[in-house]
Amino acid sequence: MILTVTLNPSVDMQYQLSALQVNDVNRAAHVSKTAGGKGLNVTRVIDQLQEQVTATGFLGGRLGEFIVDELSHQQIAHDFVSIQGETRNCIAVLHDGKQTEILENGPIITKGESEQFLQKLQNLLGKVTRLTISGSLPKGLTVSFYQQIISLANQQKVPVFLDTKASLLMEIVKGDAKPYLIKPNQQEFAEAMEMTSNSVEAIVDILSHRTLLSDIPWVVVTLGKDGAVIKHEAVIYRASIPNIHAKNPVGSGDSVLAGFAVGHQRQLSAVELIQFGLTMGVLNALQAQTGQIDPEAIPDYLSQIHVRKLLK
Ligand code: ATP
Repeated sequence: MILTVTLNPSVDMQYQLSALQVNDVNRAAHVSKTAGGKGLNVTRVIDQLQEQVTATGFLGGRLGEFIVDELSHQQIAHDFVSIQGETRNCIAVLHDGKQTEILENGPIITKGESEQFLQKLQNLLGKVTRLTISGSLPKGLTVSFYQQIISLANQQKVPVFLDTKASLLMEIVKGDAKPYLIKPNQQEFAEAMEMTSNSVEAIVDILSHRTLLSDIPWVVVTLGKDGAVIKHEAVIYRASIPNIHAKNPVGSGDSVLAGFAVGHQRQLSAVELIQFGLTMGVLNALQAQTGQIDPEAIPDYLSQIHVRKLLK
């Protein structure tokens, strides 16, 4: 079973408008309301790939109940810590081919709640084979909380697949508890590595030479429609993806993380794993809904992901 950690989930509201009128009334003909947060996108994709998954993290208030109901309705296992604070709303407005977002900070986690979570995690780690961590930290927690989670997983030999924002990633990469895989996008990687350029050449150079990354078996730097650059152990790969008509690429990175966790669980070879992981990103981009893939389309796209080794 794969355990997904979402410490700051949200109920995501998506409004579709033909155009956004600032300082005026906007009427949305299409509204969708889903259990969101990057880790819940990962959870859904793992579930769509028909692997066993359990979602954990913190939930509180009415919106927390909504997320529990949604997961139960989709028959996805969940085991969250109930908190005093209220789970947040995040709003995305799709208009003029663009997306405008309003993101709430979310609740403050108390010391007691964070201790309760680590206790729960200890129990769950005995039952799972892979752990994914996604997204930012809620208020009240610092990077050391992620480091404790990684350390507990490492003690139990559960590989950690991590996707978080640049500032946290930078601290985690420097720390003692190393994740098994990190999946920054191009911008996040450049920020985390304090690079002056985020060109593919500069990324390859850092992946090849930064000793800081040598203890992390997989570093997957995704480049949106341009595919990815990947470091596995000491080998660097460049992966290209097919040109598609993307409907909504939001959540593609989350889908890639899910793909790598599932592919690793299925013991794919390095190249197969890269193809499988990136296929999930492409499939998500083809769907209007965030964190959704069509598993039947996997064979069509898998063969269109081209992976080549880069010479150092
Ligand atoms: P998010 O934070 O929204 O989950 P991200 O910024 O972490 O996404 P990206 O680098 O945008 O991740 O995309 C991840 C992967 O998804 C890419 O490597 C690619 O496989 C696929 N992908 C993303 N955008 C497109 C696109 N427009 N067309 C085809 N594939 C895409």
